[in-house]
Amino acid sequence: MGKKYVYMFSEGNASMRNLLGGKGANLAEMTNMGLPIPQGFTITTETCTEYNEGGKKFTPEMIAQIDEALEKLEKIAGKKLGDTENPLLVSVRSGARASMPGMMDTVLNLGLNDISVEGLAKKTGNPRFAWDSYRRFIMMFSDVVIGVSKSKFERLLDEYKEKVGAKYDTDLTAEDLKNISQEFKKLYKEDQKIDFPQDPRQQMYEAAKAVFRSWDNPRAFVYRRMNDIPYSWGTAVNVQMMVFGNMGDTSGTGVAFTRNAATGEKAMLGEYLVNAQGEDVVAGVRTPKPIAKLAEDMPEVYEEFMYIANKLEKHYKDMQDMEFTVEEGKLYFLQTRNGKRTASAALKIAVDLVEEGLITKDEALMKVDPKQLDQLLHPAFDSKILKESKEIGKGLPASPGAAAGKVVFTADDAKKLAESGERVVLVRLETSPEDIEGMVAAEGILTVRGGMTSHAAVVARGMGTCCVSGCEEIKMNEEAKTFELGGCIVKEGDYISLDGSTGKIYNIDIPTVEPEFSGDFAKIMRWADEKRSLKVRTNADSPKDANIAVGFGAEGIGLTRTEHMFFEPERILNFRKVILSDSVDERIEALNGIKPYQKADFIGIYEAMKGRPVTIRLLDPPLHEFLPQTDEEYEIIAKEMGKTVEEIKIKGRGLSELNPMMGHRGCRLAVTYPEIVKMQTSAIIEAAIQIKKEKDYNIVPEIMVPLIGDVKELNYVRNIIVDIADKLIDESGIEMKYLVGTMIEIPRAALTADNIALEAEFFSFGTNDLTQLTYGLSRDDAGKILAEYIEKKIYEGDPTAKLDINGVGELMKIAVEKAKRVRPSIHLGICGEHGGDPSSIEFCHKIGLEYVSCSPFRVPIARLAAAQAQIMFPR
Ligand code: PEP
Ligand code: MG
Repeated sequence: MGKKYVYMFSEGNASMRNLLGGKGANLAEMTNMGLPIPQGFTITTETCTEYNEGGKKFTPEMIAQIDEALEKLEKIAGKKLGDTENPLLVSVRSGARASMPGMMDTVLNLGLNDISVEGLAKKTGNPRFAWDSYRRFIMMFSDVVIGVSKSKFERLLDEYKEKVGAKYDTDLTAEDLKNISQEFKKLYKEDQKIDFPQDPRQQMYEAAKAVFRSWDNPRAFVYRRMNDIPYSWGTAVNVQMMVFGNMGDTSGTGVAFTRNAATGEKAMLGEYLVNAQGEDVVAGVRTPKPIAKLAEDMPEVYEEFMYIANKLEKHYKDMQDMEFTVEEGKLYFLQTRNGKRTASAALKIAVDLVEEGLITKDEALMKVDPKQLDQLLHPAFDSKILKESKEIGKGLPASPGAAAGKVVFTADDAKKLAESGERVVLVRLETSPEDIEGMVAAEGILTVRGGMTSHAAVVARGMGTCCVSGCEEIKMNEEAKTFELGGCIVKEGDYISLDGSTGKIYNIDIPTVEPEFSGDFAKIMRWADEKRSLKVRTNADSPKDANIAVGFGAEGIGLTRTEHMFFEPERILNFRKVILSDSVDERIEALNGIKPYQKADFIGIYEAMKGRPVTIRLLDPPLHEFLPQTDEEYEIIAKEMGKTVEEIKIKGRGLSELNPMMGHRGCRLAVTYPEIVKMQTSAIIEAAIQIKKEKDYNIVPEIMVPLIGDVKELNYVRNIIVDIADKLIDESGIEMKYLVGTMIEIPRAALTADNIALEAEFFSFGTNDLTQLTYGLSRDDAGKILAEYIEKKIYEGDPTAKLDINGVGELMKIAVEKAKRVRPSIHLGICGEHGGDPSSIEFCHKIGLEYVSCSPFRVPIARLAAAQAQIMFPR
């Protein structure tokens, strides 16, 4: 037998989700449970993939299997599609592996034509119902399958209602509905230049194809991207016998949830409409009644409904979102699925289900989407007002949260306005280290350029500040202090709102609400910690961030970017002196100016971490980020260094590079300016000695060398570190260990990891640079290119946010394997942005890393993701 493309509901079960989609698998499962399900069949997700890849055609084999399934269904139903006496009507609906509510298309009442509509009228003795179904079908089929806009039909309907003085659809008579059907067909012919299709089988094939095509619609695209659903999954098509909620007052249709999807509270919540079809509930034309009213309207139906709904929740061990229809007093379930819920509802439901004895703690941990926790960690917009607001544009969701405030265009203005008590949003072409104070002062940051690992994105995430980056559609006029987006001109001082979780930008002031950490949150986190084997550290550059991260459960610091310690004005001046110095002596003097700051910061960080591991990375500034930008800045630095502006500019020009990301940065700086390593090593070790003496924390500083590509580089820098560190420890008279390790962020380092491991006691994968260099794609410029690549399906997603397992991941695997071979005790971690991304964390768990390190606000996400990885892939 060839491939099976089509399954009757009675042939499947819940475990066949990948093949049958969520809806199809659940309909099969419910059929097996003996529940009242209108029967039907499912065309598989594999058919969708073959259809979309194979020139958008059904093969004869597919058609044959669909026809065969239809015949079986006709037998079960005792009716035939398109029959003149007793026609079978079907719904054709999408159903992907992961539920994507409202993203794809549905056609109801299929099988009607000019003849079968009369058959339906006769058979049911209800011509009104028959014509109502036909006019609905013509509109839906035209809209969904053919692409004739629904609004044209709605306009016709409204005009007709006005003409006959009908307020509601239910006021229309059979004759009216018949007339409307005729007018709808006329409209179709005018638009398409052919008659409305009359062959029901053709209608069915076309509708199924439309569902497959809808996998490609822009809505579905956006939804998949937001929810990490691969394009390759495809959708299934469910062809299901129609039952009718619009057959009079003993019929109706509704939707219900077994628990409250907003709060998680255990209470059946739902709505229904008497004498209506499903789309009426969704469309909001009539106001539905609360489900409790069903107990009065149809007591027996209500009782059966409650019985089945509870049974479904117990069976699926989760909150269910169900659709049902009552046809002349008989109840049918049309679908059930695990209901979508807010993050706080997800936590409450997971904890409650454990306490009700329905699920285990492991199962509870699997029920919460780690990414959703973000909603709880940052301020969020008032959801009601957000729903009513229309965005003016969209950038990359670089750092989650919600921010609203007055627009400013410079960091200075941000600082000044914030100091006067205003909320501000900083809008920049791109951010640079100078902007840090403005970034700290702002509620949110919006940039025109830059991807998910650009300066603005990384820094904002670290601070937990909302950031939307890479909104290339913005037309900036920095001089006039205005920008244009989505046809709106936004001036300095105007309010805008940024949604860092969706990337949307609004030109109004949307109120925000602060996060709350409920008891359920703490409970789930505790269960996650008991489970996971992967440790979770944080990337923190200041004592403040370190403290926040410890509050979120960080078990150490995996990366302190020491260059981020130079962003403040006084420090950046000293740092500029270092890079603009002409002689070693001059540089040493400038470095001595910086050292006290560094040491004080390290002391603060060690204190915050109380003996937990701390990895400090030697300086790694792409120099272009630190050079003076404005004439004023040049003047200040020239004065400070006793030189002319021209001299400084010449020096600055000498330092400027065509490819700074691949230029004089990382360990290359350490090799060319060893005095920087010396200063930093002494600051790291002296601070540790002081804290060990004062607080007796067991500190083992981990000194990390960035951007190693060759073991000899590491050997060179390591010797300098060891010289200084050993000497300082000897002199201190105390015992202290320290580790020297490196980042693996250049492909060559990964490929020669066995050599490098001879010199390194630990590796930390810098997957930001490793991704940039493996793809040859600049992390600062990738935003625009990536958007097009993803749209054109060249890339599945953004590799700077979600680890590219096939390429970058392969390099990591090679490095782990080679390193362990020569040094089995080597410590292995990751500190690129991927360390906070759940699917990337799963990969890190699988390849045997010891820890992941991420920005403080992502620590809870990483803890849960690590627990899920352990549950799925125990190690
Ligand atoms: C990295 O490259 O992944 C990394 C953590 O370093 P940075 O982002 O500072 O280059
Ligand atoms: Mg790096």
